[in-house]
Amino acid sequence: MIPFNKPYMTGRELEYIAEAHRNGMLAGDGAFTKRSHEWLERRTGCSKALLTHSCTAALEMAALLIDIEPGDEVIMPSFTFVSTANAFVLRGAVPVFVDVREDTLNLDERLVEAAITERTRAIVPVHYAGVGCEMDVLLNIAGRHGLRVIEDAAQAVMATYKGRALGSIGDLGAYSFHETKNVISGEGGGLLVNDPALAERAEIVREKGTDRSRFFRGQVDKYTWQETGSSFLPGEIIAAFLWAQFGEADRITAIRHGIWDRYHEMLGPLAGKGAIRRPVVPDECGHNAHMYYVLLAPGADRAAVISEFRRNDIWPVFHYVPLHSSPAGRRYGRSHGGMGVTESIAARLLRLPLWIGISEAQQAEVVRVLTSAVT
Ligand SMILES: *Cc1c(COP(=O)(O)O)cnc(C)c1O
Repeated sequence: MIPFNKPYMTGRELEYIAEAHRNGMLAGDGAFTKRSHEWLERRTGCSKALLTHSCTAALEMAALLIDIEPGDEVIMPSFTFVSTANAFVLRGAVPVFVDVREDTLNLDERLVEAAITERTRAIVPVHYAGVGCEMDVLLNIAGRHGLRVIEDAAQAVMATYKGRALGSIGDLGAYSFHETKNVISGEGGGLLVNDPALAERAEIVREKGTDRSRFFRGQVDKYTWQETGSSFLPGEIIAAFLWAQFGEADRITAIRHGIWDRYHEMLGPLAGKGAIRRPVVPDECGHNAHMYYVLLAPGADRAAVISEFRRNDIWPVFHYVPLHSSPAGRRYGRSHGGMGVTESIAARLLRLPLWIGISEAQQAEVVRVLTSAVT
């Protein structure tokens, strides 16, 4: 059996969890959380990093930090995970869905400007598969219209655009450390604060709307309720686990690249025949080998391809049900322009098993089954 995902453990997780246990400090913002913040700040160049209990939480913090209000509009792709939209809908905003590019499956920057109205407050690019969106163009549009840019960088830890870490380029960026991502803590996430003007409020929003962090630094003599917030921080056990993964983040990324590259090479002939399309990575993007997907040819029967895989005990997955066509997406959002690319790719995309430990023979078996199913 070849599963879709197997979470990778570095071997040091339990050692660090035992250390957190010995420290006797299990709530959030202990030693492992602080180390993790410093690591993220050093590795991404953001002005402040804050661990959260999920990427979903980091996106919710972002919506609070940029003061999203009922009726505000937020431009995003429809081809994304629900949390991208939910974070803003929770504040009463309207997600405005724009189609994606055919090559990277990322928000089509050429369609964004036409979707801007008087109510638009932010653009939310999603770096699908850890491949960067066209950030220079998006930042330029945002700058000219006074909009915020929130990067959904859930899949993009250790990936870059023009040499800069994804997540560190917009006003705020959100990372995920969910077990299906590259660097993990079971559930987990991080907010990268790149606009220094938002840094102090980010601490407050994350600590139930209080200035608790300032209190612990001795900057105020008591802490009180300052503004709308919630509890967005993980406990130290999660941070200790994550710290073990950070220590191997470069190695994890390198191993995944080896697996990704092998699929890419093995699937060259099938792509050459037009039976599938392989991922496209623009030159300015340093991706993180988060995902290896293929697009089946238009009109191909994906359900039949998946059945063929299952008969061989291989478990690929597909996603997303485009948000504009989902029940909540129709209720809370609207589309700007056609969704032709989104609908086409969402029906044809297949994600192949990719995890540390998958063998060359297993990859060859995946490629053999795919080849027999589509030719
Ligand atoms: C995984 C993912 C999320 C959610 O991450 P969690 O840490 O599970 O909350 C959000 N957006 C995208 C694009 C994702 O892939």
